[in-house]
Amino acid sequence: MPELPEVELVKRELSRSVEGRKIESVELSDYVYKGHDTGRKTIVKQDLGEFREMMPGASILKVGRRGKYLFFILEKSDEIFHMIGHLGMSGAFFITGSLEEIENLNYRKHWHVLFNLDDNALMSYCDIRRFGEMSTVKRLNDFAPFRRMAPEYTDPDSLSYFLERARNEQNSKKSVKAVIMDSSVIPGVGNIYASEALFASGILPTKKAGSISVERLRRLHEEIVNVFEVSLSSGGSTISDYRGVSGQSGSMQDRFKIYQKKRCSQCGGDVKTKVIATRNTFYCTKCQR
Ligand SMILES: [Zn+2]
Repeated sequence: MPELPEVELVKRELSRSVEGRKIESVELSDYVYKGHDTGRKTIVKQDLGEFREMMPGASILKVGRRGKYLFFILEKSDEIFHMIGHLGMSGAFFITGSLEEIENLNYRKHWHVLFNLDDNALMSYCDIRRFGEMSTVKRLNDFAPFRRMAPEYTDPDSLSYFLERARNEQNSKKSVKAVIMDSSVIPGVGNIYASEALFASGILPTKKAGSISVERLRRLHEEIVNVFEVSLSSGGSTISDYRGVSGQSGSMQDRFKIYQKKRCSQCGGDVKTKVIATRNTFYCTKCQR
């Protein structure tokens, strides 16, 4: 699943290629129509008629990111509205001249939303497992997940929110891994970067958040920021299904210190794995406490 750095890289590429463009028309896949017929609301999480009516003629003013969500600031008939998207487990946007130009056949087969743009480019949303989401809202704050999200890691308030939320009554008894994967504590940390940041800060993922000193939590925050930054500069992680807008891969996976490792990169001991916060977690009991 793409985490903050991967989504940020998608955002940067989309900014470069679609800001200032106008959406001329949209096409939806049969899966989306079928999903809506059976009440599952596949990918498009709102009334399909409404979505299809809003898009044509909308200009893309800006592409942004909040946590693991992308958003598009759109303007149509002097009104501003927003399209919010989540890549789910395996979603990807591609900018090409046509669907046939998407090199990865598996993605090409699994297109779900096509946006025809006014420069003859095609912005395709492809999603093999169909856990992705998109919907429109008037204001960003109308979108419930944004209202309870902590400030971005780049925001000066991020650390104080992090320290306060990690130790509050609701979180202090939970495992620190579950806590840092909660976007109301810090947005954008998924399974991979949680393992990496906890390893880098020497904290055991199973430890209760409330039992960790402020000093160590501060260090953890610093390491989360660090893994995000290193990942951004390596082009993100390409595990199985993440692809950039132009189909490229990142190399962050080559820099992992603990995630999916058999031996600890620090002491050489066996890496332990355990399901914590619903996902497989990698850690070293000698280097993390
Ligand atoms: Zn170790």
